[in-house]
Amino acid sequence: MTAAQVPLLWDQGIHLPTYGLWLDPTQVRPRAVISHAHSDHVANHAFAYCTAETERLVTHRRAMTGRLHALPYRERVDVGGAWLSLWPAGHVLGSAQTLIETDVGRLLYTGDLKTRTGLTAQPAEPVPADVLVLESTFGRPRYRFPDSAEVVEAVTRWCRRTLADGATPVLFGYALGKGQEILSALWTEGFAIALHPTLFGVTEVYRECGQVFPPYVRMGDDTSPNSVLIMPPTSRTADLPSSIDAVRTAMLTGWAMDPSCRQRRGVDAVFPLSDHADFDELCCYAEHVGATMTYTVLGFDDELALHLRRRGVRAAPLRQPQQLSLL
Ligand SMILES: [Zn+2]
Repeated sequence: MTAAQVPLLWDQGIHLPTYGLWLDPTQVRPRAVISHAHSDHVANHAFAYCTAETERLVTHRRAMTGRLHALPYRERVDVGGAWLSLWPAGHVLGSAQTLIETDVGRLLYTGDLKTRTGLTAQPAEPVPADVLVLESTFGRPRYRFPDSAEVVEAVTRWCRRTLADGATPVLFGYALGKGQEILSALWTEGFAIALHPTLFGVTEVYRECGQVFPPYVRMGDDTSPNSVLIMPPTSRTADLPSSIDAVRTAMLTGWAMDPSCRQRRGVDAVFPLSDHADFDELCCYAEHVGATMTYTVLGFDDELALHLRRRGVRAAPLRQPQQLSLL
């Protein structure tokens, strides 16, 4: 097999036509990999590989008529002339990097990635590869997150102060991933915790997958005002229980590094807790993988590629539509 026989295309996801395979396509495809259960990575494909946890979370959130094929991490499956395997990505429960091993080289696609150790997802492992496709959500030097333990301490101080002032703290985080990280992080504080019904449902799936959490209840009209509420960022004031009067709100997001974040999100406080790698982590990850070529996708792809080149890593953004050879 020659390099020209293994083209790599960007077409609303990564397309490997040699194997009839798409990685994280946003359009419905005959055969795909779903790296994790966030809705911007999921479509109703005829056939898709994913981890068992992702399968469980995807089917909890939407009806899937196609076939999902669950693969344990690191198990190789033949996709017709190449081996496919999934590796922990550290982003949310079940999130996976995809490794494609061909006769001419190894391609690693990170999907959404977090390399700091989280509380609710298996830590990401750098997998050696010849070609790396790296997500670039926070691929700009401004996005250097502080230590997660310090952020959690600041969040818990803020919650304690809010309760002492007679208000109910409301923490906003995505229903899948961030919400469960926040819940786990508050474990030692002994807060009464109530989860928005959407977040509650996803958290129950996490528990069914073996994740252990501090006590929590489903938010409802009997929720005590002395609770800490965790809600998705899309929640409205009308979603608050009638038992709750005064609230203070905080958003937990990597975008908190932007000075205008608090004002833009219309909340009382913001804290930089992310389920993505920050700028330094992305750069270190690319160096660890040691690929001959690194392609950046999504987010600040141009800027991250530029900074990687300055560090001696051969890198370029992968744009659509574009055809490149794997080696
Ligand atoms: Zn994601």
